[in-house]
Amino acid sequence: SQSLPYAPVPNQRRHAYRHRLFVNELSQALFEFVGQLLPTAQELVVKEDVRKLLERLIRTIEPESRLLSFGSTANGFNLRNSDMDLCCLIDSDERLSASDLVVMLGDLLERETKFRVKPLPHARIPIVKLSLDPSPGFPSGIACDIGFENRLALENTRLLMCYAMIDPPRVRTFVLFLKVWSKRRKINSPYQGTLSSYGYVLLVIYFLVHVKNPPVLPNLQQIPPLRPVSKEDTHINGYNTWFFDDIELLCQSWRSSNTETVAELLIDFFRYYSRDFAYSTGVASIRAGLLKKESKGWQNDLSSSKFNDSRERNRFCIEDPFETDFNVARCVTREGLYQIRGEFMRASRILAMRPRALVALSQLCEE
Ligand code: ATP
Ligand code: MG
Repeated sequence: SQSLPYAPVPNQRRHAYRHRLFVNELSQALFEFVGQLLPTAQELVVKEDVRKLLERLIRTIEPESRLLSFGSTANGFNLRNSDMDLCCLIDSDERLSASDLVVMLGDLLERETKFRVKPLPHARIPIVKLSLDPSPGFPSGIACDIGFENRLALENTRLLMCYAMIDPPRVRTFVLFLKVWSKRRKINSPYQGTLSSYGYVLLVIYFLVHVKNPPVLPNLQQIPPLRPVSKEDTHINGYNTWFFDDIELLCQSWRSSNTETVAELLIDFFRYYSRDFAYSTGVASIRAGLLKKESKGWQNDLSSSKFNDSRERNRFCIEDPFETDFNVARCVTREGLYQIRGEFMRASRILAMRPRALVALSQLCEE
């Protein structure tokens, strides 16, 4: 009998080898895909110019004010043509109320700029919405929201930025891809009952800190401070906003022992949120891990709720990292959650077939 020139590869090993090829190819494709969707240098310059112009105008009403970026423009999760989130801080004791400022600023910007202006003085957080139609200099236009004294938003932006800095290749790629995916699949719209970008980013961080074992990220809100901190320094509107923010120092002593590729993490993420997350009883908290809806008074028990509305509000629960009595996913409706979970399942199904990486990406993000 003739012996084979090589030992036959057992099925299991062949399977593992194909899987490795698939996730490596997909990871590479994910890096390249999000790389093409980053803002251009010119876009960043234009946005900074817009911020400065608006700051100059606001100072004609409130001389002691500063206009700061938050949201994706400031946390490293910005895609090309993303909107601008701006927050006006006023460093004087006698200042106008946020809703008065919104009305006055609205009038001023209407007179002095080419922006289309929409003041919303009675929103939960009063804002002025600005937009600029596409023009040759700025083919996709500009959308910008200006809020006032929203210091918690500045802090949660900084928290997300710090998480991104710990492991940029995996965390940024993951988050950026998920943002593109959720936009293209039309499940990124709190006004239509689905989840904001901010909500998706929190889901990713929650998964990387609390679900993955070993974790990909440490819990920055639970690392003890190096020296004592006072309550005045760490609390905003009564909420504790302290977190460990010296990422350079942290990375000298901490390194994740999780070596999975971004593709492996993404596959597992879709699986976890399709099947395993306890939607009906659980609250995803990046601060404290998985919590119970009851422990927060967020249960959506049909019999005990007084208003239809409040029951609707807690279908899906994601605790804000600082404003812990605030459910970031409160806008998600029954239909919205059905749609979101359906999309997680669809993504899982596509990836389970292990198509070629480019095919996988185009199917996942098909509009
Ligand atoms: P995009 O690039 O899609 O605009 P983004 O990262 O800017 O995404 P947004 O959802 O626009 O995310 O949110 C911007 C910022 O507004 C967040 O960083 C957060 O500070 C604040 N924010 C948004 N939604 C909420 C919410 N539901 N609760 C609390 N803060 C929120
Ligand atoms: Mg934004």
